[in-house]
Amino acid sequence: MLEYIMAVMMIGAEAQGEKNCSWCTQTRLEIVEMGNPVLRQPARELSKEEILSPEIQQLIEMMKVTMGGTGVGLAAPQIGCPLQIAVIEDRAEYHKALSPEILKERERVPVPLHVIINPKITLDESDMIEFFEGCLSVDNCMGVVSRARSVRVECLNEKAEPIVIEAKGWYARILQHEIDHLRGTLFLDRVNTKSLTSMENFDTYWRNRPIADVRKEISRLP
Ligand SMILES: [Zn+2]
Repeated sequence: MLEYIMAVMMIGAEAQGEKNCSWCTQTRLEIVEMGNPVLRQPARELSKEEILSPEIQQLIEMMKVTMGGTGVGLAAPQIGCPLQIAVIEDRAEYHKALSPEILKERERVPVPLHVIINPKITLDESDMIEFFEGCLSVDNCMGVVSRARSVRVECLNEKAEPIVIEAKGWYARILQHEIDHLRGTLFLDRVNTKSLTSMENFDTYWRNRPIADVRKEISRLP
């Protein structure tokens, strides 16, 4: 596994043209796209010893760098490692393109950078809510996905300490999306296919519309 992780880091570094920089934390790893079998296999759990190893600590640091500025979550299978690790961060700067009404509707608030490992998720399926979402591994595509509004996640952090996360709103959605990745599931498996849109058309037609409008529009489609 160690050699495998190092190989992934080297591939990531070379993809950025930094061949001598496999340990450089400023190097982004290459994100694998849908169709790659690694996105469809269940990721394996890590032992506490593995989590605390320099290799996994380095992998986590590189996942944080790779996600930074590009998305609100990144799961290890997305950089080619079938391990149960995900990094999550929802920066306030990402919210600037959204109106206050939409932020309120989505219950979207900044979430600090953190790591979840070996997560067990419990959904409150009595309260489901639909919104558009996308994925770094599915280029130029957004669609409406129904997800639980509240979740509870039991997992380990990057120090291999047990933590419990009670989340609602957009944070709960991010957790469900990332933990899906660790089970081999993509948002496309859950999407309302009639809502699928390119990024450009999402920005033009859908980004700032209340979800009730979106739902009404989609329900009218043949
Ligand atoms: Zn994703």
